[in-house]
Order: sequence, then structure tokens, then C-alpha cells
Amino acid sequence: MVINQQIPFQFPNEITLHIKREDLIHPFISGNKFRKLKYNLLKANKENKTQLLTFGGAFSNHIAAVAYAGKKNNFETIGIIRGDELESQIYENPTLLFAQECGMKFHFVTREEYKDKNTDLFIEKFRNIYGDFYLIPEGGANSLAVKGCEEILTKEDSEYSHICCSIGTGGTISGLINSSHSHQKIIGFPSLKGDFLSEDIRKFAVKTNWELITDYHFGGYGKINEELVRFINDFYQQTNVPLDPIYTGKMLYGIVDLIEKDYFPKGAKILAIHTGGIQGIKGMNIYLKKKNLQQIITQ
Ligand SMILES: *Cc1c(COP(=O)(O)O)cnc(C)c1O
Repeated sequence: MVINQQIPFQFPNEITLHIKREDLIHPFISGNKFRKLKYNLLKANKENKTQLLTFGGAFSNHIAAVAYAGKKNNFETIGIIRGDELESQIYENPTLLFAQECGMKFHFVTREEYKDKNTDLFIEKFRNIYGDFYLIPEGGANSLAVKGCEEILTKEDSEYSHICCSIGTGGTISGLINSSHSHQKIIGFPSLKGDFLSEDIRKFAVKTNWELITDYHFGGYGKINEELVRFINDFYQQTNVPLDPIYTGKMLYGIVDLIEKDYFPKGAKILAIHTGGIQGIKGMNIYLKKKNLQQIITQ
């Protein structure tokens, strides 16, 4: 059972905030990555596949999750990693080290090559190298992933008026939208710049009770600043809830800021989905340390 933890801040206008602790599902396949893999793994099994192939960046929660899930469920795993310079830096990269320990084989491609990842030709090339595999798209987003994310909200969650989540590909919010009630509003906080997300969400989402707030990406995917790190650390010290710097930290920063700006109506009952991503803190801290910046506190 995933708990909804109340955040004990004194908000104006009788507003309350709870966080659904999907991050506690597992330290490595946490939150939405667990949800997104569930039905994909069942299908791979049914199709008698023995290998999973997927894509991701250097600190990808998805890569870590697929590597671990593969090991647990007896699949070989192949990770197509963006950035050929990383091949010589695996030992400085906690995410890739973890994935490798789980048995994942890496295939590094240049950022240029990576852009073609959704073309048949690109996939064909890997079939020639590795043989048959079950393909999981980048970030794990497909209709089976959305189906898994439809299981995040439970019957009891119908009491909330606003449900917030962070967005990468839009798969998670699509699942939330599909299982929401019409009296609820689903608010997405993209962690990256770009106006393609609404269209992607419309492909999977069957309702229209949602909205994107695009002001809290902090300069783009993976970009952070000192203010965000300070917020994440303060939040952790005040609530004991760890936030990741790529997704959930930006969303919570946005929610708290919007409450202060009177965005939410009086008495709003907000549920924020903690989609996980805690494994990424280590890698971010290595970067912050190199830059001589304040690091993210972990226990
Ligand atoms: C991948 C991820 C997201 C984004 O989910 P999408 O379904 O791609 O929108 C959000 N939060 C965390 C922690 C993630 O790892």
C-alpha cells in the first residue's frame, strides 16, 4: 500500500498538501518506472522474449529500473545510452554502475545518432547485433506504460481536488488523467522545455480535466540552480521527504510557489505524486561537487 503523507506546512486558504510516496516502492525501480514496466514485462514474458532493449541518458531512472527489473525477472537487458563519451566514464556514474551490476549491456551512441532512436532503421541495426528483443521506448512510455500508471490513483484518492505530477514523456500524467474523476484537476509540471508535450498527452489521455504548468523547468531537462537545491534540502529537513532534482523537486517547488501566488482555490486538497527518481541524486551530487556548489542532502 502506497501512503499519502500529509505535508505539515501552514498553507493559506485552508489548502492541504499530501504526497503519494511512490518513491518508497523501491530504491531503484521506484515510482512511475515501476508502474510503467509492469505490463510491458508481462507482455515480454508472454511473447517469450529473453532480452529487453531500451534507451536512456547518463543518469536515467528508466535505465536503472529496466536493468534491475530485468535481473529480477530473468531478462537480459541492453541499454542504448546517449553520449559516446560516457563509455570511458562508467566508473564515475552511479546510475550506469548500478545498471551494469544488474547485468545490463551498454551500447553507447553519439548524441547525433541518438536522435534517430525512433526510426525503424535504428532499431533494425540493433536486431542485427543482438537478435530478438522486446523494445521498451525511452522513458518507458507506451500504452502499456499508461495502463500501469492508471493504477497509481486509488478509490480513496477521489477526495483530492487537484492531483499534481512531474512530466518527462507524459506517460505518467496520461495514466493519472485516465483514472481521475471529472471533479478533479490534473496538473502537470514539465521538467523540460518544449511545447510538444500536450500533443503527446492527448494521444493517450481520454479526458480533458488537465493542464500543464510550464514555468518550473529551471532552464530545461537536468538543469538546476542553487535555489532549487536549497528548496530540496529545506523540504527534506522539514518533512523528511527526499525529492529528486530532475523531476519531483521542480514540481514541489512549483506547487509551493503556486500556493503562495493564490493559484489554487480556497480549501484545495492537493495530492502530489512522488514519482521517485531518488537514485539520480548521487550523480547530481558528483556534478555539484565538481562545480563547488551546495549538494543535495541525503540521510
Ligand atoms: C521518468 C520520471 C518522470 C516522468 O514520467 P513521464 O511518464 O515520462 O512523464 C517523473 N518523475 C520521475 C522521478 C521519473 O523518473
